[in-house]
Amino acid sequence: MSDCLFCKFVSGELKTDIVFENDQVLGFKDIYPQAKEHYLFISKKHTENINEMMSSDSEGVLAVYAAIKEFTTEAGLSDTGFRVVTNLGRDGGQTIFHTHFHVLAGEALGSFGS
Ligand code: AMP
Ligand code: ZN
Repeated sequence: MSDCLFCKFVSGELKTDIVFENDQVLGFKDIYPQAKEHYLFISKKHTENINEMMSSDSEGVLAVYAAIKEFTTEAGLSDTGFRVVTNLGRDGGQTIFHTHFHVLAGEALGSFGS
């Protein structure tokens, strides 16, 4: 999608701090980290949110989780643990409309939802 920030990271039109890449998936550092380590993982195929992704790029969901497993294992984050979050829509707090998976790690995270 031509006006999508994350598609511009995929195409290389805009630079970002990439931590993982394969044919289907890009992982990069979140610019406003909400934990000591905060990464965003996306499918290279543009969808607006996780529900649309499940309809038109469900293989991308699997590819993203496989990528997260590979990255966190190599980075040693699987031992200490991490959290994966996907926001959808207004009440979910979604601000970027290219489906993305937050990976939060590097410290003990607070109780969820409090
Ligand atoms: P969400 O609120 O779930 O849509 O998450 C969007 C995320 O994108 C936020 O955590 C932002 O900090 C992050 N973000 C916004 N602009 C950039 C950017 N240029 N590079 C990396 N991450 C970004
Ligand atoms: Zn996009």
